[in-house]
Amino acid sequence: MANVLVFAEVRGGDLRKVALEAVTAGRALAELSGGGSVHALLAGDAGIAAKASSLAQYGADTVLVLEHAGFAQYNPEALAATVAQQLGTGTYGYALFSATAQGRDLSPRVAAKLGVGLAADLTGFTVEGSTVLGQHFNMNGKVIATLALSGSPALLSVRPAAFQPAEAPRALATTSITSAADPLSSRVKVVELKQGNTGKLDLNDAPVIVAGGRGLKAPENFKLCEDLADAFGNAAVGATRAVTDEGWRPHSDQIGQTGRNVSPNLYVAVGISGAIQHLAGMRTSKTIVAINKDKDAPIFKIADYGIVGDVFEIMPALTAAVKAAKAQG
Ligand SMILES: Cc1cc2nc3c(=O)[nH]c(=O)nc-3n(C[C@H](O)[C@H](O)[C@H](O)COP(=O)(O)OP(=O)(O)OC[C@H]3O[C@@H](n4cnc5c(N)ncnc54)[C@H](O)[C@@H]3O)c2cc1C
Repeated sequence: MANVLVFAEVRGGDLRKVALEAVTAGRALAELSGGGSVHALLAGDAGIAAKASSLAQYGADTVLVLEHAGFAQYNPEALAATVAQQLGTGTYGYALFSATAQGRDLSPRVAAKLGVGLAADLTGFTVEGSTVLGQHFNMNGKVIATLALSGSPALLSVRPAAFQPAEAPRALATTSITSAADPLSSRVKVVELKQGNTGKLDLNDAPVIVAGGRGLKAPENFKLCEDLADAFGNAAVGATRAVTDEGWRPHSDQIGQTGRNVSPNLYVAVGISGAIQHLAGMRTSKTIVAINKDKDAPIFKIADYGIVGDVFEIMPALTAAVKAAKAQG
């Protein structure tokens, strides 16, 4: 039986969806290792404690609350010191992070401080004895490697959307903790946050992604993707590298090997050929719909539903159909 420390990611004073996913994954890990407790570390500016109840709702037995103005933005040095200090108490068998930009920065810092191993960007795991066996996509997703991680504490990060948040309500129990390092004297400071994704939802938080490729021909034609995303109402717009290299969309919208990794419930690929480097970032999506005029386009090999046709004809019809379906409830 081992307790699990989950780092609950916050942005703009609010919990991110990945925080709930991480707590769900932490619960699974605790059950698999014999029923330990899940503690979620929640750090932010004054008032962040109000978010603790959501973490309890999704299965955190205890929420460790760290409130300080120095955590209004991501504070890598002070957070790494604090997480490492918590893990150093010997209470925990595991620590779990989200494999987001923040988690990918924080988790190796903690691993280096403690001199322990980190299995990063896992899409699933099991536990055998005291060893975690994690699934990790390699070679652009062509190979699923099994990473065996032993030692304690074992550090893991999980790919966004690999675990769907599942409610597992606990009575809210919070403990205030203090930072292990002065958060105001960190050498690394976040001085500005730029809203990269041009859509309203972040790509990692969106249950639906409408992604456009070079088949859209021109930047203004991304309106077709935006209209479909608006019709869904809970969708973000992504892009291929061909598109971001052309400057049609910002790099932060890019999905793939050198862009974002996403696993939405629904991924609509619009005029995207399906190069291996693009698939690397989206092939774990639950349902993939591809629209391409070339019936032999590689994207159709991984699509659950394929529409062979011209995006300029299909997209308005699809958007109208989604609107009509929504109107019917
Ligand atoms: C090291 C490296 C890293 C890379 N990283 C990434 C990455 O992170 N993400 C990424 O996406 N790519 C990445 N790439 C680039 C990748 O190899 C492809 O070049 C890119 O994904 C192609 O983008 P695309 O599908 O938009 O364009 P294309 O390959 O040009 O495909 C356009 C598609 O649109 C279809 N089409 C054209 N007109 C229409 C129409 N009217 N209606 C319907 N369909 C139409 C065509 O049939 C075609 O299949 C990387 C490449 C390298 C070498």
